[in-house]
Amino acid sequence: MQAFGMTKIERRNKKSGILTVLLLLLITLFVGSVILSHAEDKDSKSAGTRTIVIDPGHGGHDTGVQGPDGSIEKELSLNFAQILAKELKPDYEVVFTRNGDYQVALTRRASVANHHGADMFISIHTGGGYQYQMNTWSVFYYQKTDLRLGENRLKAVAPDNNEDSRLNWNHVQLRHQKQSRALAGCMKNQLAGNPEIREVALTGAVLRVLEGLDMPAIIIETGYLTNPKTEKRLKDIAFLTDVAKSIKMGVDIYLTR
Ligand SMILES: [Zn+2]
Repeated sequence: MQAFGMTKIERRNKKSGILTVLLLLLITLFVGSVILSHAEDKDSKSAGTRTIVIDPGHGGHDTGVQGPDGSIEKELSLNFAQILAKELKPDYEVVFTRNGDYQVALTRRASVANHHGADMFISIHTGGGYQYQMNTWSVFYYQKTDLRLGENRLKAVAPDNNEDSRLNWNHVQLRHQKQSRALAGCMKNQLAGNPEIREVALTGAVLRVLEGLDMPAIIIETGYLTNPKTEKRLKDIAFLTDVAKSIKMGVDIYLTR
């Protein structure tokens, strides 16, 4: 059987050589698959459980803006936050800064979001003005510029109290300014696509509710509650669900850019 050009010993050597190669291959495959499965775990975790913090504005004694028919901002913001959470929950982990009618300091709102290592912070407010016809929707992001909102306007967005002034030392949001602006832009585009929302302003400003947040963060102001038509719309579940879907789309687009 010399035709195959191999002696019995050579064949045995070759056989054990093949076995060694097979064994090494198996070990490599096993170690590789363990490493890979760990990596997959990590990937699926970060992709599947992005955390969105929803911050319903005001609460407790701090009622926010009041509408001509008696609606108050703190109730509408919580109601809308819950509708928004329903839309987000199938795809994201949702954390509330408050889930009832009680006061929450701005520092507390920021620390809840930072503690959860949230991927995004969305604060919900309504605007208020002295003219009934005013009805602009706004998306705010933190921007350290000379542009400051009027004092009344600033109070509506971020109520003043002594405890909150402790946030002033911390401008951690500055390092997310670019991302927050991008997020605000995605949100503005989605909201402006809603035929019932005529105008959406994109505004960068020094907003104390945002400055301590260590993640992309925005405030959505759902029109002016002082406008009678808006007041009615902000109690319309179908309309609010529609808006929540637009915001969910804005979140999706921002996170998958
Ligand atoms: Zn407000």
